Amino acid sequence: SNLAQKVYLIVRKDYLRASKVMQKRVMDKDNITILFNTNTLGLFGSEFLEGAHLVEHVGTDKERKFDINIDGFFLAIGHNPNTEIFKGQVDLDAQGYVVVSGGSTATSVPGVFAAGDVADPHYQQAISAAGTGCRAALDAERFIMESQS
Ligand SMILES: Cc1cc2nc3c(=O)[nH]c(=O)nc-3n(C[C@H](O)[C@H](O)[C@H](O)COP(=O)(O)OP(=O)(O)OC[C@H]3O[C@@H](n4cnc5c(N)ncnc54)[C@H](O)[C@@H]3O)c2cc1C
Repeated sequence: SNLAQKVYLIVRKDYLRASKVMQKRVMDKDNITILFNTNTLGLFGSEFLEGAHLVEHVGTDKERKFDINIDGFFLAIGHNPNTEIFKGQVDLDAQGYVVVSGGSTATSVPGVFAAGDVADPHYQQAISAAGTGCRAALDAERFIMESQS
């Protein structure tokens, strides 16, 4: 909202789950419009994004389809790690994060290393994800070197 003329926050429910202080920051911004009870049906545009097809109050007598004009779309739904495909392959914690041992990137399977948000329930920042990427690469290199010796 500091960079764009106008921001729409499309919220499927009729409330925000963020902390009160974060909600207030959004509400206080003149250029943010919150669209509650709204789902995105699709995006449209020829060469670049030009808008989104939306529907509000799905499944009720107030259901209404409408379009908004936008030139950027940021998808952020939920905080569940996308680790379904690793289930039964490497150890995951109760929330689905890949379990790494100690301060390393080693998973429960020798030679498999985890980096980034999937193994980080706490920080989930670009720089910490990149840092663990570096560590995983070094751990993998060391693993290969030691396997060959
Ligand atoms: C709205 C938002 C704002 C953020 N703002 C900041 C910020 O200001 N500063 C900051 O430091 N961090 C911010 N973050 C967090 C930051 O984006 C993440 O911490 C970082 O991107 C994590 O990197 P990653 O490589 O672990 O995961 P991701 O960047 O999520 O990369 C995972 C990749 O794996 C791909 N993938 C998923 N499943 C499969 C599959 N089955 N096969 C192949 N590929 C697959 C995905 O498409 C994706 O490209 C923000 C995040 C969000 C959502």
